Amino acid sequence: MQWFIRLANTINDSLWQANCPLCKRPTDGILCKDCDRQITAYQSPNFLQIDYPISPETPLYSWGIYDGALKRAIAACKYDNHPEIMAAIAIKIAETWKRSPDAQFLKKSFKKSLVIPIPLHPNKLKSRGFNQAEILARHFCKSANLPCNSQLLQRTKDTKAQMQTKTKQEREANLAKAFIVPSNRHSHQRDVILFDDIYTTGATIREAIATLAASNITVQGVIVLSRPQFKNY
Ligand SMILES: [Zn+2]
Repeated sequence: MQWFIRLANTINDSLWQANCPLCKRPTDGILCKDCDRQITAYQSPNFLQIDYPISPETPLYSWGIYDGALKRAIAACKYDNHPEIMAAIAIKIAETWKRSPDAQFLKKSFKKSLVIPIPLHPNKLKSRGFNQAEILARHFCKSANLPCNSQLLQRTKDTKAQMQTKTKQEREANLAKAFIVPSNRHSHQRDVILFDDIYTTGATIREAIATLAASNITVQGVIVLSRPQFKNY
């Protein structure tokens, strides 16, 4: 709950100070209209990433393109301690989810799905103070009216950032057995949606899917805030 109190305080502070965390200009909301517009310019033309499913059965949905103002906003959240930015963007993802042409199908098939954010290792959580994927997932779920569980999947291995790995083998070895489903956390819920901030190689997501599958939990789809605009990574 530490991150939640911190987030609430940060939101309070930013409302009281009424300064945009990205450009420091006064604003009525979390982000100023100009930064909000610049971020929205990096919204992906399609929410469903048809060219890049996780597997034939597991669709990938990405709200935006990991570039420009959106990339800078994610960096400001993570490295300049502005979790409130993710809270603001999560509302955009929920709006896209609700308006998506796939919405009816999505709502029907994911009706009872539990949303699980990709967890951080406790060491990283302690140093950063919050998990940006969890903030995104919680605010998304609140707006999209879906249940969220950030305890079902836990990270046991303090892996290096996937972007620091060079080969596919190195990435897979880095992530092997990175997650567990704690035995006391088993849920009756069998269908889940994974949620993360950035999708690059998919190795993290695949490892999480494999860990959940070993506990008979099926990932019905993956939603991310952003993915880079390139193919065959
Ligand atoms: Zn701004």
